[in-house]
Amino acid sequence: MRPVNKGKAPEVEYKDYKDAEPELEERLGAYCSYCEMSINHAPEVEHKEAKSRGGAELEWENLLLSCKYCNTRKGAIVEKGDKEKYLWPDEDDTFHAYLYDKDVPRLNEEYLKLEGNREKADNLFKLLKLDNIPITPKDKDRRYLLRNEARSCAMENKEGLAKMDSLSTRKEYLESTKRLAKAIGFFSVWMEVFKDDEEVKKILISAFKGTKEEYCQNEKSNFT
Ligand SMILES: [Zn+2]
Repeated sequence: MRPVNKGKAPEVEYKDYKDAEPELEERLGAYCSYCEMSINHAPEVEHKEAKSRGGAELEWENLLLSCKYCNTRKGAIVEKGDKEKYLWPDEDDTFHAYLYDKDVPRLNEEYLKLEGNREKADNLFKLLKLDNIPITPKDKDRRYLLRNEARSCAMENKEGLAKMDSLSTRKEYLESTKRLAKAIGFFSVWMEVFKDDEEVKKILISAFKGTKEEYCQNEKSNFT
């Protein structure tokens, strides 16, 4: 899960939590803070601690962007004071907490065992049902499908890049990699596919604005 840096709370006081959307989008891009999908309509402003259960409605620290699939699943489960029971992409190293090397994400057990945040990571994962595979027509969750389309795209792109035999064609190709990744989203899927290519990873980190770069560093890559 992409770790993000939201920056300081804006000076303005919001009258409605939805007013925070443009600023959040400006700083983090129009991606779901949880499943990382690119959101084509205005993303939903999401409360880490549910506003209906005492969570701060207008406080910058309590706000993230979410797709409707994650927001619906998360619902109003996290009540005021319960934030510490979960990992959060704007506070914790969520980059190493989960693995994206299969068609559904999973906990990075090896890393979490050392880091000691397994329970928090698991709580967030279950809250969002990040491994959901919709099997009935009633379940409209598109995260699984879109994530795996992003993976196919990233893998094709990696193969294409490998065929570039000069620096200038590689450079050109990298531009399209960047554009494609930005349009499709799923930062962690791209980072996984290109995990052995430092140049592409760097490009991805800067393409997805607001990514907390220090959490995506190499020294921890032996866990992934
Ligand atoms: Zn989502």
